[in-house]
Amino acid sequence: MTRISTQLGAVRARIHAACRAAGRPPEAVALLAVSKTFGVAAVQAAFDAGQTAFGENYIQEAVEKITALRHLPLVWHCIGPVQSNKTRLVAEHFDWVHTVDRLKMAQRLSEQRPAGLPPLQVCIQVNVDGGPTKSGVAPADALALAQAVADLPRLCLRGLMCLPEPAPDFDAACQVFNRARLLLTDLTTQGLKLDTLSMGMSADLEAAIAAGSTLVRVGSAIFGARHYPA
Ligand SMILES: *Cc1c(COP(=O)(O)O)cnc(C)c1O
Repeated sequence: MTRISTQLGAVRARIHAACRAAGRPPEAVALLAVSKTFGVAAVQAAFDAGQTAFGENYIQEAVEKITALRHLPLVWHCIGPVQSNKTRLVAEHFDWVHTVDRLKMAQRLSEQRPAGLPPLQVCIQVNVDGGPTKSGVAPADALALAQAVADLPRLCLRGLMCLPEPAPDFDAACQVFNRARLLLTDLTTQGLKLDTLSMGMSADLEAAIAAGSTLVRVGSAIFGARHYPA
């Protein structure tokens, strides 16, 4: 057993326990392995341990990995901010984007999605806690953006993503994640067909699952601490 396969097993056990505690079936929550800053060997080790969905933040780094691992049946999710000069790379290489927060970006992704590929699966990033990240649409503007994104031909709107500031404790984290869950319910009540709530990371996946997450994005608990180039 490699360290990555052991840690992956531990994360899966945490997800199962959190689902059980929340009275949700274990298959209600999918695991996205966040491999940013780790190389192709780490992704390969996770794949060998049964993981197929990977999340990346830095587009250039991701495209290199996606290209090098083209022979594996992997699903790649872009979970980092996308500047407008990077939308084409994202549209051409990724399967999912979680960070759509303005219509212009969604329009570019739709226009640039190659005809030979299935529609790009997207989540709208919502700034649920008014945090200073500047990323994410304000909750009050989410419905209008979601309706416009749902009409774009080469995108398939799947749901919402949030990345709140770390909360002081479990209950506080649940409260913030619950806002995203309530917003998803609002949007489905308005007729949008959505099945994805992307929230929860290494430190707070239990709270996110208690609040209704369907996709947790976990990096350091699987791959270890990240070292960023200076
Ligand atoms: C890095 C990152 C993660 C994973 O964070 P960990 O704390 O390492 O689990 C999840 N989501 C986003 C958007 C990230 O940037």
